[in-house]
Amino acid sequence: MRRSFTWRVFAPIALLIVLLTAGFGALTLRCGGAQSWKTLVPLGLIALALAWGIAWGISHPLRALTRQAQRVARGERTEIIPTARSDEIGQLSRAINALMRKLQTQIDALQSEQGTLRAMLQTMNDGVLIVDEAGRVALINAAAEQLFHLEPGWGTRRSLVEVLRHHQLIALWRTCRESDEEQRLTLELSRQQLFIQSIAAPLGQALPGHILMLFQDLTRVRRLETVRRDFISNISHELRTPLASLKALTETLQSGALEDPPAARRFLEHMETEVDALTHMVTELLELSRIESGQAPLQLRPTSAEALLQTAVERLRVQAERKGLTLTVEVTADLPPVLADAPRLGQVLVNLLHNAIKFTPTGGAIHLSAQQDGNRVVFQVQDNGVGIPADDLPRIFERFYKSDRARASGGTGLGLAIAKHIVEAHGGKIWVKSVEGEGSVFEFGIPREE
Ligand code: ADP
Repeated sequence: MRRSFTWRVFAPIALLIVLLTAGFGALTLRCGGAQSWKTLVPLGLIALALAWGIAWGISHPLRALTRQAQRVARGERTEIIPTARSDEIGQLSRAINALMRKLQTQIDALQSEQGTLRAMLQTMNDGVLIVDEAGRVALINAAAEQLFHLEPGWGTRRSLVEVLRHHQLIALWRTCRESDEEQRLTLELSRQQLFIQSIAAPLGQALPGHILMLFQDLTRVRRLETVRRDFISNISHELRTPLASLKALTETLQSGALEDPPAARRFLEHMETEVDALTHMVTELLELSRIESGQAPLQLRPTSAEALLQTAVERLRVQAERKGLTLTVEVTADLPPVLADAPRLGQVLVNLLHNAIKFTPTGGAIHLSAQQDGNRVVFQVQDNGVGIPADDLPRIFERFYKSDRARASGGTGLGLAIAKHIVEAHGGKIWVKSVEGEGSVFEFGIPREE
């Protein structure tokens, strides 16, 4: 049976009182004072009540302190027990109160540190995983869950093999655990089409046996690197041809052709064509870089779609006629104006129309149109020319991309890249439908003026 502190204090005093009362009673009885019992019994009872009061008075603050300590043990916030006593119990209460206050401050500091750490982990772009000594995931952040397509919270306490499902990453963790040294690995997650760098580092004394795994998504960086590499190799390739041609022409002139005026004139004309091609390419590259870097902000104004189409057609009508092509324009009635930078959007139409003329054999037809589609206006440049092979279609808007280098040797491969950038800067979208041998339809949608 568990006895309370009150009972432990009260019991011996009560026993003493009972014994004393009984002793006195017996003594006075023997001396013939039978009446004294009547006084002794109430006195004994009063003494017992007093003893109970004293025992309770001692144990009550102790019980309050016990309850407070139990609340702290359960992780609850505690209130300080007011005490005015100056005896040992008062001192004990004050000491425990001070201890509670200190403990609470430390718990608050720890909780805030934990909160900051959790917020930092959850907002990090890099995936973070902590693996315990048994190979189970002790902690996983949102970025890692996203990277490995996991439901939030699913991975915690599961085995690393189950969570990552990638043998190279498991091997990385094993090597790190066995060597107790940091390990790095760069790999491609083909399922997710991602290129990641993974670092496994032992947590040492901080968390013995635990390993931190960090996953950095390098897909974008790598894509940009590839674009930059391709760009440099493409531009070198494109510049080499006209430069080599200019060099050859200059050498021919120097080695005697200058003495033959008709031949010299022909060579000079050829040189001028090459210089024009170079100038054209440099201008287009500059235009592209200006649009990309946002150096030339668009001057958006309500613009008539029909006027845009007519201007482009007028600029290239002679070229089309010279090639024996039919050029038609069709615009639906009540077409709303678009919000556009007219010279820039005109450039898009010129680029598309220029391509249509270039890639449509004599006798072919080119049709330009515009119609409303919801809150945008869709422009169309359609030809019945050579068309684009299906394999090339996804890459046709890339810089320097030409579907058939021999056939398209006259161009720079920049026209469509420029068109795409201009359309997207207008908040629009450009796309193409084409069947090789049958023709192509280039379309782009631009938001209408509200
Ligand atoms: P280019 O200056 O070479 O015309 P573009 O970027 O304008 O550069 O076009 C890229 C490539 O797309 C062209 O080289 C050509 O192979 C293909 N192309 C573009 N428009 C058409 C079209 N209307 N018909 C067939 N092929 C086209």
